[in-house]
Amino acid sequence: MDFRLCGMTLRDFKNSPVNFGSINQDYKFMINNNNQNNNAETADTKDKGAGHPHGMPGVMPDASILGSMAGTAGKKNELRLVFWELTARCNLKCIHCRAEAQEERQKDELSTEECFAVIDNLCSFSNPILILTGGEPLYRQDIFEIASYASNKGLRVALATNGTLIDKETAIRIKECGIKRVAISLDGSNAQTHDSFRMIPGSFDAAFDGIKNLQNEGMEVQVNTTIAKHNQDEVKDILKLVLENNLKALHIFMLVPVGCGVQIADTQMLDKQKYEDILSWFYDKTMEFKDKLELKATCAPHYFRIMHKRAKDEGISISPKTHGMAAVTRGCLAGSSVMFISRKGDVQPCGYLPALAGNVLKESAKKIWESSEVFANLRDLSLLKGKCGICEYKKVCEGCRARAYYETGDYLAEEPYCIYEPSLIQNK
Ligand code: SF4
Ligand code: SF4
Repeated sequence: MDFRLCGMTLRDFKNSPVNFGSINQDYKFMINNNNQNNNAETADTKDKGAGHPHGMPGVMPDASILGSMAGTAGKKNELRLVFWELTARCNLKCIHCRAEAQEERQKDELSTEECFAVIDNLCSFSNPILILTGGEPLYRQDIFEIASYASNKGLRVALATNGTLIDKETAIRIKECGIKRVAISLDGSNAQTHDSFRMIPGSFDAAFDGIKNLQNEGMEVQVNTTIAKHNQDEVKDILKLVLENNLKALHIFMLVPVGCGVQIADTQMLDKQKYEDILSWFYDKTMEFKDKLELKATCAPHYFRIMHKRAKDEGISISPKTHGMAAVTRGCLAGSSVMFISRKGDVQPCGYLPALAGNVLKESAKKIWESSEVFANLRDLSLLKGKCGICEYKKVCEGCRARAYYETGDYLAEEPYCIYEPSLIQNK
């Protein structure tokens, strides 16, 4: 089978001197924490940096983090999660890639020393979960150095990867450098669906090999799935696959039209009713499997509206005991608890929202976090416009600011993929 990609085959990549590497990254990812602080969400680059956005991966915040996001606990606007696109390079060509993966190393990638300086600065004012992503983060030869440095500084480090480059040796190194969880993207329940989305034959099997190698080392593995039209009827099978393989978590991510996603938005974005139906089904599964599997809808803010509305309709009061971390967080955390750093140091609220807040080579991450106008705007829910501005659920939802931006050019506009009519409109 020819796994050719960018002039190389998948086998070539695995055998290359850079003996790490996995494939694309999606970020979605989460970290489960017994302590108290963390949380999660996404990223992208303004200049078409790297990696499948999704990387959005999703990070899983713990209760206190989620609490602060929801404004119910913790320090307000505390940085809980940093998605860091370390490179744009990747061996896959995913059709929904946020980062629009590159074949070669970009000259403006941060150096190892610059990465260390960023970590030092982050530690000077915060204690976030650090999600290393790309592109494919394993393409950086210093990935384990960077992860070890951050881990030794006390940060909780996670890796968002396409999983295809994780052989036994790489799995061992991932564990040894202090990474606590690995999020791997599976966009189908079988090779046919996944490989067609990833554009590389063999990528499903390679990702699954990576999962098994990590599990053999005792690592926690999370699956991230981007939901779009091509797999909208396969979500149940993906959940089954995750359960059967004893994976730690499944995070579903609703496609955001960013990077390559812009080009496929017309054909791959779910219609609003389907979006609603999947989130409602996912809520049922979250309740059904709450003691067995970590399930999270990432970058699907109105999941939280659905959760709150359904719980109320069913006479259930929401608490961490009944709904886990979802009880104390909200839909979109971009800029209020989450920051994205691109491969060249640009800072954005999330990888999908190309609103530049600053650059870590020009000013400190602390200064950007505390004084950027973009972040200040996102933290002020009174600035939301349209339906979101008058919605009774905006404190738990907020709508996806990236989808609003791509639809209207205004990241404070209403979320275009929400079917809900706020009560102020219903009661007119
Ligand atoms: S703006 Fe959208 S993609 Fe970004 S963190 Fe918020 S919900 Fe996720
Ligand atoms: S109108 Fe906006 S805030 Fe309200 S549920 Fe929909 S996306 Fe969320």
